[in-house]
Amino acid sequence: MKHTITFIPGDGMGPEVAEATRKCIDATGVKIKWETRQAGVDVMDKYGTPLPEKTIASIKKNKVAIKGPITTPIGKGIRSVNVLLRHTLDLYACLRPCKSYEGVKSKYKNIDLVIVRENTEDLYAGVEFKEKTKETMELIEHMARLNPKKISPDSAISIKPISEKATERVVKFAFEYAVKNNRKKVTAVHKANIMKFTDGLFLETARKVAKKYDGKIKFEDRIVDNMCMQLVQKPENYDVLVLPNLYGDIISDLCAGLIGGLGVAPGANIGDDCAVFEATHGSAPKYKGMNKVNPTAVILSGALMLRYIGENDAAGRLENAVAAVIKEGKDVTYDLKPHRDDPSAVGTSQMADAIIKKL
Ligand code: NAD
Repeated sequence: MKHTITFIPGDGMGPEVAEATRKCIDATGVKIKWETRQAGVDVMDKYGTPLPEKTIASIKKNKVAIKGPITTPIGKGIRSVNVLLRHTLDLYACLRPCKSYEGVKSKYKNIDLVIVRENTEDLYAGVEFKEKTKETMELIEHMARLNPKKISPDSAISIKPISEKATERVVKFAFEYAVKNNRKKVTAVHKANIMKFTDGLFLETARKVAKKYDGKIKFEDRIVDNMCMQLVQKPENYDVLVLPNLYGDIISDLCAGLIGGLGVAPGANIGDDCAVFEATHGSAPKYKGMNKVNPTAVILSGALMLRYIGENDAAGRLENAVAAVIKEGKDVTYDLKPHRDDPSAVGTSQMADAIIKKL
């Protein structure tokens, strides 16, 4: 076998979209040995954790994984398996291309944006303090000695760390992506006018990195609120966007909305050593086991994965096959039909079969 790849089915409707993806990738003819490993709420009782060590070890060994979505357990130990996985493997860049496909219902046409979201720090670093606990009261008292701004004693607190190192590597990732994929411009998104130190450092570091690409790739910056309005009004003015974690999360969904929704938005979490490919959407538990949801986002994440492992021809064929099935509009899931209760909608696995026929 040419490649060994870790396959994580996930939970909720994850296993269905993941399996649909695996069969499409196999049908491209690329020789892959799949190493199936578990993660998610369904395996918590068996392994005592939603993210077993064996799963992490497999990704570290194979360097590449594809996963179905995983539900965030509410009120139990781990905050989010997805966030933990990104932290554990230092998958610092979240890549989310948002491209229009003919046949997907959307108010917009010809969208072609790429979101690069920082994945390891910012308000998602997980440094939080619950209101009225001893630690939080201590922190508030300590901060009162360091900074004249008063924090109400009944506050909960989240810390927003943004470092030079993490910003530098994610901005560099965005520029390198732009160079390799013939993109023209990188826009850094921030709120440096208000958060002068954290977002200020993000912007200042982005400007430094941009200088190295002067003459090759254009650079500009936008304040995040203005960016939201601009993306809704003039998305064609933008190309590659690079953002801190929280803004990246929100703008990814905004851009998924521009191309017709989460069902068609692929993604990847990439570090220097490993990469994990997954859709932007979650596990939609209400559709679990119904063979109903759209497999496109995970299949397109699979195409990104094929490109990442150097199988460019197969990646192109897979993407074209997905585009052809969507354009035809016949063998597609309910969400891609003109009306959601259209009786001609097909199931997840039938849509995958139609994609395979077009390969
Ligand atoms: P979700 O993306 O799972 O679903 C929201 C709605 O979007 C669904 O009810 C459905 O109507 C639609 N939808 C999503 N994917 C679709 C698809 N492939 N085809 C058709 N329709 C689709 O978001 P949620 O309900 O907020 O999250 C459910 C769980 O997933 C939560 O526990 C959340 O934390 C988790 N989550 C996981 C990931 C991940 O694994 N990377 C990402 C986001 C959310």
